[in-house]
Amino acid sequence: MLETTNKFFDRAADHLELNDRLRTILTTPRRVVRVEIVTESDDGELLHHLGYRVQHNSTRGPMKGGLRFHPDMDEDHAASLASLMTWKTAVVDIPYGGAKGGINCDPSKLSESELNRITVRFVELIKEVIGPTIDIPAPDVNTNSQIMAWIMDEYSKYYGFSPAVVTGKPVDLFGSLGRDEATGRGVMFVLEECLAGEGRKISDVRVAIQGFGNVGSHAARLIAEQGGKIVAVSDISGGIANDQGFDLPALLAYVADNKVVEGFPGGESIAGDAVLTYDADVVIPAALEEAITVDNADQIKAKIIIEAANGPLTAQAHEMLVARGVTVVPDILANAGGVTVSYFEWTQNIQQFRWEESRVVTELERIMRRSYQDVAKLAVDDGLDLRTAAFVLAISRVLKAAASRQSVGKHLPAKLR
Ligand code: NAD
Repeated sequence: MLETTNKFFDRAADHLELNDRLRTILTTPRRVVRVEIVTESDDGELLHHLGYRVQHNSTRGPMKGGLRFHPDMDEDHAASLASLMTWKTAVVDIPYGGAKGGINCDPSKLSESELNRITVRFVELIKEVIGPTIDIPAPDVNTNSQIMAWIMDEYSKYYGFSPAVVTGKPVDLFGSLGRDEATGRGVMFVLEECLAGEGRKISDVRVAIQGFGNVGSHAARLIAEQGGKIVAVSDISGGIANDQGFDLPALLAYVADNKVVEGFPGGESIAGDAVLTYDADVVIPAALEEAITVDNADQIKAKIIIEAANGPLTAQAHEMLVARGVTVVPDILANAGGVTVSYFEWTQNIQQFRWEESRVVTELERIMRRSYQDVAKLAVDDGLDLRTAAFVLAISRVLKAAASRQSVGKHLPAKLR
């Protein structure tokens, strides 16, 4: 996965004519932490996991990024996702660097108390390298507001009351209103901007969504509320489709009760992978990385792909789709709504002040629409695809900040001087 991210980075670096030394500096993480997490199961058995935190770049502020609890979590994933966070926070121009981490565990096989012990031990082991002005974790795949609450609680035992050490907390424990749906809402705004460029509206399109967790389900609900037809969705259990568009409230209620989309009576069952190639105008991968590869890129029928997940396209698949005229809105722009509202949560925590939900939504909308327009304009001006434009914008912002605070100034490429 890191290789894919670096390929995308390199394309933008070529455009900016960055020298090799600057490329090395910008792709090397500042700090890589791996810890061994030994705990006990409820039956008294020994449990053994590895925890990771990769801190990629802090030029533009404290490092920020999610924690993923997944059996595949490793240093490569953390490093790739950490660098995406550096570029993402720069694209939306919020005062952060990038980090990412997680634990190689499968939460579906752990009880709540086991998950709690593993999380608390992880915090004990990394507490010196995180903090409100250093590195601020947040939820990602298989982590949620409860896990963020445990992190705040454990960290605060050592350093005193510290709600700003982590975002995505429960609203009752200094979380922000509107954080839960923020990534999905950002996806909706970005889709709206993308369609507006073609003179279309959300109510004109049929949408297929892979992944029905935090991001996918909120994106589906918000797009449907704007009149969009959600015609296919999938999760780990498989896929379902309904050519007329799902009754979203009914689907959400079904998933709340059954945890998975499989068996929903308001649609027909299809293979999970078939959602990506479904007959839709827009495909939103909102599950895991490398969902669209050389093996299925040719079969994608949609003309717009909104990358709600991180890294859902391989570099080759991206090339094939862009060559076919498909618009790909890249992850570092499309799913930045989550980190943007995390930023709002952090500022509220620091000020001990709560925003109304309407203010969260208004500020999020302003940032997402402006960021889309910044990237789209650069893409047109410089003849780039949206992903390369987003990377160029992000790298330029990080380098300009580095030039102002360190000695990088005279080494800046001519284009940025
Ligand atoms: P989640 O754990 O809430 O949901 C993940 C969903 O993907 C689940 O529905 C799961 O069943 C499904 N899934 C897993 N493997 C699948 C497969 N092979 N096929 C189809 N579905 C599959 O996670 P999330 O927070 O919604 O994150 C999803 C993606 O969005 C990740 O790439 C994450 O990094 C990214 N992201 C999340 C946030 C956030 O705020 N949560 C912010 C930015 C980006």
